Amino acid sequence: MAEPGREKSSHRHTLYDRARACYLGLAVGDALGATTEFMTPGEIRATHTIHKNICGGGWLRLKPGQVTDDTEMSLALGRAVLERGWCLSGIADNFVAWMRGKPVDIGATCRRGIRSYLLKGQLEQPVNEWDAGNGAAMRMAPVALLTLGDDVLLMRCALEQARLTHHHPLSDAACITIGRMIHHSLTGCDRFALHALTRDLVADHPRFQFSRYDGQASAYVVDTLRTVFHYFFTTGSFEECLIGVVNQGGDADTTGAIAGMIAGAFYGCDAIPRRWLKKLDPSIREDVEEQAIRLIQLSPLVRRQIGDGHPLTQEKNHEI
Ligand SMILES: [Mg+2]
Repeated sequence: MAEPGREKSSHRHTLYDRARACYLGLAVGDALGATTEFMTPGEIRATHTIHKNICGGGWLRLKPGQVTDDTEMSLALGRAVLERGWCLSGIADNFVAWMRGKPVDIGATCRRGIRSYLLKGQLEQPVNEWDAGNGAAMRMAPVALLTLGDDVLLMRCALEQARLTHHHPLSDAACITIGRMIHHSLTGCDRFALHALTRDLVADHPRFQFSRYDGQASAYVVDTLRTVFHYFFTTGSFEECLIGVVNQGGDADTTGAIAGMIAGAFYGCDAIPRRWLKKLDPSIREDVEEQAIRLIQLSPLVRRQIGDGHPLTQEKNHEI
């Protein structure tokens, strides 16, 4: 029988591996999917037969391994939290700096949210029926890692970061469900437990029903999640899931990014094809791996394991 201490540390090793895979999965899915963004499945078939290698290009004319706003905004959020604790203005400041750096792509709703912070100091967008895009959901990887072990904290951080740019019940619900699916995956739950989370979401918002998937993969958060869920639950590996998602086209960098963060946490680092990891921009790879470990170390679950308090859960003190 293993010593209890050893068991704990090997458990933590697995958790750290899944955390890295979650964040790497996001970046790999983004880089892979950017090639087929805005294409139809028929156009993808005619051009690539099956798109399965990170090769850049696409409407953004990317270099192979280059990522887009999905990964860059996640890194900006993660960097803010690591530097200043959970501080919304810190996250917004980093989004401003990112926008000023002329990113390769930026969604209209994200741009509007960042501008309203810049001009009016607004940290929460008013509810807007047109805000049901996937731009907040795509930033959930660092939030999920940071809040592992505390569902209330997950909900709070997910909604606060989301509403910097997007404020819509469907976006809110999507963000929380993605966060919970990552939490369950990180702690080794099976796919039935993850499916139960999607059923909870569908019970509250029937539009997310994906049992009769119709192939819509747009940036509308309902289409995005239905695409991710369909391929996650009908495939048996990280690679198969991601290839399915990005060959559906539409908002393929973001469906790829969200599928990648969930499937990465679920299957672990060994399941991410090496050819994809090798192609990923080395500085992005380094940043996501470093942030993944530092964020998971701050999570309530890991802090409890190592007998540390968790200041994030104290209402008045947002310092880490
Ligand atoms: Mg993108």
